[in-house]
Amino acid sequence: MSLMQSLHLPDFEHFDADKVTQQLPTMLEQSQAQIEALLQSQVLDYEALVPPLEQIDDAIGRLWGPLAHLQSVANTDDVRAAYDDCLPIVTQYSTWLSQNSELYNALLLIQQSVEFPQLTSAQQQNINLQLRDFRLAGVALDAQEKQDYAQLKQQLAQLSSQFSNHVMDSTDSFSMHFNDSERLLGLPESSLTQAQQLAASKGQKGYLLNLDFACYFSVVTFADDRQLRRTLYEAFNTRASDQGPHDKQYDNTRIMQELIAKRHQLAQLVGYDNYADYSVASKMADSASQVHDFLQDLAQQCQPIASQEMTQLQAFAEQQGGPSPLQAWDIAYYSEKLRQDRYELSQEALKPYFALPQVQAGLFAIVERLFGIQVAAVEGVPSWHEDVGFYRISQDNKTIGYFYFDLFARQQKRGGAWMNDCRTRQRLGDGQIQLPVAYLVCNFAPAVGDKPALLTHNDVVTLFHEFGHGLHHMLTQIDVAGVAGINGVAWDAVELPSQLLENWAWQSESLMMFARHYETGELLPQTLLHKMLAAKHFQSAMFMVRQLEFGLFDLRLHMQHDPHQPQTVQEVLDQVRSEVAVIATPSWNRFQHSFGHIFAGGYAAGYYSYMWADVLAADVFERFETDGIFNTATGQAYWQRLLGRGGAASAMRLFVDFMGREPDVAALIRAKGLGEGV
Ligand SMILES: [Zn+2]
Repeated sequence: MSLMQSLHLPDFEHFDADKVTQQLPTMLEQSQAQIEALLQSQVLDYEALVPPLEQIDDAIGRLWGPLAHLQSVANTDDVRAAYDDCLPIVTQYSTWLSQNSELYNALLLIQQSVEFPQLTSAQQQNINLQLRDFRLAGVALDAQEKQDYAQLKQQLAQLSSQFSNHVMDSTDSFSMHFNDSERLLGLPESSLTQAQQLAASKGQKGYLLNLDFACYFSVVTFADDRQLRRTLYEAFNTRASDQGPHDKQYDNTRIMQELIAKRHQLAQLVGYDNYADYSVASKMADSASQVHDFLQDLAQQCQPIASQEMTQLQAFAEQQGGPSPLQAWDIAYYSEKLRQDRYELSQEALKPYFALPQVQAGLFAIVERLFGIQVAAVEGVPSWHEDVGFYRISQDNKTIGYFYFDLFARQQKRGGAWMNDCRTRQRLGDGQIQLPVAYLVCNFAPAVGDKPALLTHNDVVTLFHEFGHGLHHMLTQIDVAGVAGINGVAWDAVELPSQLLENWAWQSESLMMFARHYETGELLPQTLLHKMLAAKHFQSAMFMVRQLEFGLFDLRLHMQHDPHQPQTVQEVLDQVRSEVAVIATPSWNRFQHSFGHIFAGGYAAGYYSYMWADVLAADVFERFETDGIFNTATGQAYWQRLLGRGGAASAMRLFVDFMGREPDVAALIRAKGLGEGV
């Protein structure tokens, strides 16, 4: 039997998307029937109910998972059509499951039974989390309320979708044409080429600018023409609003107010005071007010330092003959000039030291040293593209898990970087343990000619970040699918392992294991290393304050909503800005009208999660710094007490088990280089 067969890996080489479309409806119907039959059983203790449910879920994952994965990494017409065909029935099935009161009651009986305390803590936590999710999905409501809940959910989905369509449409409808590059002075060569290609694609000569983030970012950062920067800044920050050059039919003002009001109703329906409490109920933080204090405290510490950074920027700009005061559309431009002036460091100069094969070998060597594991390539496992590798992680010759490594950008592949599970560690019906398998995906620029692919240091950090998620999934020691790996881990804690591993891409000791010039073999020179480390904290207080502004705005919006005296979204934002911002925002700025994270994504009353997990990672890393970043005892303790336990206990419990105390917010301040002022 081949490895592919014994691991039940998808046969990507002979993948047939149509077969999934044909088989999935029957499989979902059968699964539904199996679950209904299961619920009729006489005895429904843990063993009789939960493992069979996990196996049903695993079987669906084996059929549907590969298609969902290919939809992101090899989005051919066949795959897209099959995916679009299947998505409605998959959604329908999961809605049926998440509101199934019989299943909820069966799980509740197990939780209340005398058997419950005898279950393993992973099994108990699995039941607890499932019951919580059922309640958050409105399972305990009466028939009328359930209907109201479903209706609210549907309205919210529609509003979110309108919100993003408006953002997309107003983004797409703006462009600026130039016959020559006279007004585009300062833009890097690559941005100019991009602008030419864009013009050519519309059958025009010259250059075309639009509001894609890369284009906007390049103009406000590099364009010497101040008026041009202002024009792009205004167009970008008034998208989908009542301001700026946009068609007012895309104005999101009403949609945002309705989203807030309906989320509030939804939260109250399932028993919470407001949507912020509802959102935090499934997170590591105890309450919305705790999160509010957390953000407020950080803001108070960072704000004075951010003000100093802003004063320095203003002084530098004036030396350069720049405007006083700087306006919002000058900030990125003069910041970039100041960075160049202070550190003389370009990403380009570092790239020859970060050839992908060496970086990859270095990453493996680092985790091998830290955890006492081995990472090795496995040949002959079929994948979806010739560039994709397959690897085994083992310890003392015993296999722990596997991963696919898909690192290069190409056509029909979604941008960004992520980790996803292909197989979850769990005990199967025959008593065997299914080993975890991960998909690790990045989008690095591929090799050109006979040179290896050269990464920026940012890319290196991204690779370490995703590998951190991968280790969370693959080094899990939990056999209960619902809480193995990243399953069941609170949203505001799930970035701990990923942000933690980033640190090894910033330490001299670990960098010296792999940062060698790809032609000469020379190690990264100390002068370059020092510049790189010095530039790490450039304007970090200004960055923090901006993130805190978003976080506080998002939280207060959902926490303070009063249906009888609703504040406008603008009022809430203006208030937050008056407390924390160090950059003056023009009154016509409508940034919030395109803030998809909280109005169209999963971050509503959850934007703080980024910073929350940052604290956890910074704190844990300080222990590694104290003990030695390659201290194997500390590596083992981190694996056994935190990383390996997935969602089997609360994130706080795992943190305390490893650190011996609760998180220290000051660790983040130190990690950002803000400990002693600037
Ligand atoms: Zn991440």
